[in-house]
Amino acid sequence: AGVPAAAPAPPPARHLFSDPAEVEALRGNLLAWYDRCKRDLPWRTLAATEPDADRRGYAVWVSEIMLQQTQVATVIHYYNRWMQVTAAYRVLCPQAAPSGDLVHCLWQIPSGKIQLCLSLTCPLPSLLPGVGRYTAGAIASISYGQATGVVDGNVIRVLCRLRCIGADSSSPAVIDRLWDMANVLVDSSRPGDFNQALMELGATVCVPKAPLCRECPVKQHCQAWRRVSMSPTAIVTLVFAGIGDCPLCPPATEPWDSSLGVTNFPRKAAKKPPRAMRTATCVLERRGCHGAPEYLIVQRPSSGLLAGLWEFPSLPLAQDLQEEKEREELAHHLQAWMGRPVAAKGLQFIGEVIHIFSHIHQTYVVYSLHLDGDVTLDPVLFPSRWVTEDEFHASAVSTAMKKV
Ligand code: SF4
Repeated sequence: AGVPAAAPAPPPARHLFSDPAEVEALRGNLLAWYDRCKRDLPWRTLAATEPDADRRGYAVWVSEIMLQQTQVATVIHYYNRWMQVTAAYRVLCPQAAPSGDLVHCLWQIPSGKIQLCLSLTCPLPSLLPGVGRYTAGAIASISYGQATGVVDGNVIRVLCRLRCIGADSSSPAVIDRLWDMANVLVDSSRPGDFNQALMELGATVCVPKAPLCRECPVKQHCQAWRRVSMSPTAIVTLVFAGIGDCPLCPPATEPWDSSLGVTNFPRKAAKKPPRAMRTATCVLERRGCHGAPEYLIVQRPSSGLLAGLWEFPSLPLAQDLQEEKEREELAHHLQAWMGRPVAAKGLQFIGEVIHIFSHIHQTYVVYSLHLDGDVTLDPVLFPSRWVTEDEFHASAVSTAMKKV
């Protein structure tokens, strides 16, 4: 007792950017390359030419939200469309925000993978929920010229290679270290360009497979490239010096693999298998006033998985329930929800639908129920509405619900 714990040793120099002259040279080489080779992207043009900082911020925010969900080539079309329509909307209805459904329709890519959370009347994006550290950093640096770094998937790959970081790149310790590095490296006179250059390098040169190291503008600062270019004896010495207790080196059980070259970095821990979930879902159907069938859909909560999207009334189930019990639970749920009796045996089993989310293996157990008359739900507690089949497909519903 009374003996303070020793502070952890700093990481070895090869994992750091501790030489100011090297940092300066790296910035210069990267920015010169960016000025020569950068892709023409509409949000970059706007960020460089628009005098209003909030408009720049809005444009970068829109592009970042879209880029998180799909590739640059696809985003360009949707970004242009979004900016044109929202500009027109702003002229026509200066006081109004579009409904969630309007937003969804404008930004629904045929892959069906898209969710959205954009609105026209945002004040500053950094104040909005759903804007994480990366997006806030991108907007602050690109639109407002603040000297703050960014770390996205491309930057993780580039930094891990530049500094031979082989520990799990998705671990909080490594991510924190990468943010520190990004903040050290960012060029205070051109922070937006520097961050975009680092991301561009990862997207076009330091790509996941077969990076173009010989053409790389920062190869003279790259520890992974240096290691690949070394003599075999030097590599052995370096590799054995690198493993052990260092929290940023590859684990001793997964040493350097010379067949992989620089793509030894970054490394991720093996993915966990997706979690299995079962959900009972009920397609409630009635005859509409014109005789065509209509279906009840309800809106999901505004946070979490599939936030704000519409779905058939659904209930997560325990994994090991018998079918009869599942049906009873769903009947109870519908009953409590609609305020009228629902007999379990009235629920007709239709089948099972499997949908794989990135981390969830979801099985929807699908039932249907025909109703006479309307169902009254509290619109605040349960946003819900009856839709025809066409209206269902035009609504903000997930791909999983379309399968159902
Ligand atoms: Fe990436 Fe190769 Fe450039 Fe290193 S030299 S940053 S590994 S492209």
